[in-house]
Formats: sequence, C-alpha cells, structure tokens
Amino acid sequence: MKVYSFPRGGVSFDDPTVPSRDASVVAFLPAFSIIPLTQYPGGRVDALVSVGNFVREGMLVGRGKNSDAANIHATIPGQVVRSVEWNDNEGRPNEALVIRLEGSFKYLGKKEENFLRGGVSRKELLQILTDYGIVEMESSGRPVAGMLAELDNTGTSQTLVVRCVFDDPWLAADYVVCRERLQAVVEGSCIIAMNGAQIKRIIFAVSHKEKEIGDALLSAAAQYDIPSAVILTGSRYPQRNRRELELALRGYEKKEGVDLGALLILGPATLAAVYDAVKYHRPILDRYVAVGGSAVRNPRVMLVRIGKRIGDLFEECGGFVDVPYRVATGSPLSGKPVVNLDEPVTKTSYAVFAMLRAQAGDGLKRNCISCGECRNVCPVGLDPEELYKRIMVLHSAHNPGAQECHGCGCCDLMCPSHLPLSDVIMGRISGESA
Ligand code: SF4
Ligand code: SF4
Repeated sequence: MKVYSFPRGGVSFDDPTVPSRDASVVAFLPAFSIIPLTQYPGGRVDALVSVGNFVREGMLVGRGKNSDAANIHATIPGQVVRSVEWNDNEGRPNEALVIRLEGSFKYLGKKEENFLRGGVSRKELLQILTDYGIVEMESSGRPVAGMLAELDNTGTSQTLVVRCVFDDPWLAADYVVCRERLQAVVEGSCIIAMNGAQIKRIIFAVSHKEKEIGDALLSAAAQYDIPSAVILTGSRYPQRNRRELELALRGYEKKEGVDLGALLILGPATLAAVYDAVKYHRPILDRYVAVGGSAVRNPRVMLVRIGKRIGDLFEECGGFVDVPYRVATGSPLSGKPVVNLDEPVTKTSYAVFAMLRAQAGDGLKRNCISCGECRNVCPVGLDPEELYKRIMVLHSAHNPGAQECHGCGCCDLMCPSHLPLSDVIMGRISGESA
C-alpha cells in the first residue's frame, strides 16, 4: 500500500523516556479538582457557581461567552472550596475553581443511558457538542461545534479526516485511545459524518508504522453506510501538522483521482468525546495522558480526571529520581512549561514530562557554525539560519518567508548551537531576549 508524505524536511524523532503505549492505568480520583475558567483559545467563561456551592459530577460550572470558548463542567462531585488566580507561562491571568471531592458520582461506575437511539439532527448535534463542551483535545482546544458550523457555512463538499498519525512518540496517549476506545472513535466519526450534509466520506489517516490501527478502524467502520478508506502516511515529524497532513492527502487525491474537498481533521480523543457526548450526554471528564521523561521513576499512560494536579500525576508514577530540570505539558518538541506542579490537567493535556538536565542538554547557545542542518529539515523549505540572522543581527523587519513558518521546531531540534530558531522566526521571543 502506498505511503503518502510531505515532500521535504522533517525529522525522525524517538525518545526512550516516553511511557509504553501498550497499556494504560486509571489514575486515582483527585481529592481536589482545579477547573480553570480560562481555557484558551476561547477566553474566559462565566462561572455559574461560587465558593461554597455544591456541584455534581458533570455539572455545568462555566458557560462559554462566545463560540470559541467551550463550556466547562465539574469533573468530580463536591464543594467549591475556593477560587485561585495565577499567571500562566505566557503571563496571561487565569482563575480556577477548586472543587473538593464529596458525594456520589453520576457517571463513574454507573450504567449510562443511551440517548442515541433514533439518531440526532445536525442542529441537535451542534447543540449537544456545545452543551457538553467538546473541544479538539489533540491541539488548540477549539470547540468542535464552531469548527463544524464554520465548514457548514462554506457549502463545499468535505472529507472527515481521522488523524491517527504518530510522528512523535509523545502521542502515546492518542495511540492508547485508538486501541482501547476504537469503537467509540469510529462511532464518533460516523456521528459527525452522517450528520454533516456536505461530508462525503471518512478517511482514516494512519502513519504506516501503525497500519494495524488503520485496518481495525476500517473494519469497525464497515457496518456504517458511509464511504471510508485508510490512507497510510509517513511517520516523520511533523507529518501530523495540518499543512503536512494536507500535503499527503492531496497527493492521495491526485493519484487516486478523487475529490476530497475541504478537510475536517479531528483526532481520536476528540471523536471518542463526541461519541460520549451524543450517546451518553457525558461531558469531557477525563483523558489519557502520557506521563514520562528521564526524571520520572515509572513513566506510564494514565486515564486522568480533568482538573487533577500535575504534581499528583508524577507522584503516582513513583515520583522523581532527581530534581527535574524541565517540566512541561505536550511533547518536548513543542511543550509548554509547567511553572507550578499545582497546575491542572486540562482537556488538551495529552502528555506531561519531567526531564533531568542530562536529557535536556546544556541548552547553552553558541554561535552559528553554518552547518546547514536547519535548512535540511525545514518542511516548508525555509532557511532558518538566514531568517534568524536577519532578525537577530540585522534587526530586519522584512524577513521573506517567515510568515510561512508554522513553528514545528525541527530546526531547533537539529541545531548543534542550540539557537532558539523557531521562537525568533515566529516572533515568540524578541531579538533582545533570544
Ligand atoms: S543548524 Fe544552527 S548552527 Fe547549523 S546553520 Fe542552522 S542555525 Fe547555524
Ligand atoms: S523554520 Fe519554522 S517551519 Fe522551518 S523547521 Fe523551523 S520551525 Fe519548522
């Protein structure tokens, strides 16, 4: 079977400190759940409860103010004991409700009612996804209802692309979702596709090393009356990025002579959440998280309640072997620093890691040696060395191509001089602070 990929650049990335994706464990329920009222990108939500109120598991506690801000729910039953404020790693103010576990669960351990009998209309689907706060769990956290409504308005034919591309070993949690919740992923895909007037087919985009996942997804989808296919993609990072995935899919389109139309790309955790919301009227209460890194004694993939302290996750993995040098959420390739272990797991926390200094490297910036490695790996075909020097040395405001950089970080990974190329090119840090 042909493998479709992007034409140039990229890196093969491996990391022995990633937890095994062959199994998962259920994390202990948190004694306290910390629920942020600002879940980017959508901005703050309006709190519907106050300190002292009692909440039920799954109860709506914050309503999104606009279509980019998702509703949020209590992930444990209990009492709101306080609200806390802090600045996130980008200096933005945030506020959270702290819920102390108390009382009985509505969903946990209970047989859930099936609300899907008879199906749902498109309008009902959008309302359910809004009500239950369903967001893209593999990336930005954007509400799915808004994505669907936006595509509906284009009036063009569409393909739902189920993104099961594992170009980064830190996507171990996504892999576990595919294995442990495969039927939910497929049914969630079909719910979206069958209720989208313009969605003509489902494509399962699966990296070729995980071909067995593609076979299982296709086999499960066969019982539904919607055209579906598997496309095998490359495994080089950043194959999963929207730009690189679309390049691979357009290659397939050309070779096979099919018209995919506009692409609606969603990941397995999101689609399983769609299934839970539509079938059981269940908001996102938990998610799989890969917990690892060289500082962690027993790395593992865990099913974790949203709102659990990140520090508690590390403790459940046996704690640290030594003082960590770098703690972050996401992948080391694009992770966001964790400045306080009290920060909670959110709907988009697919991984958290803690590295020792030896794994992080000395991190000391040196002079560019013009080795050209950054050029070789840039999937966009940019010259990161030149762009970096234009910005840093010439303080140039005109940097051709810089706006095409999507911040994949391949250049950073390969640079032997540890220069913060992508941050400078993307304007995430200024010339003075680089
Ligand atoms: S990889 Fe680093 S050292 Fe090599 S050319 Fe690029 S910026 Fe310079
Ligand atoms: S310049 Fe931008 S797109 Fe190119 S490798 Fe670096 S981060 Fe990726």
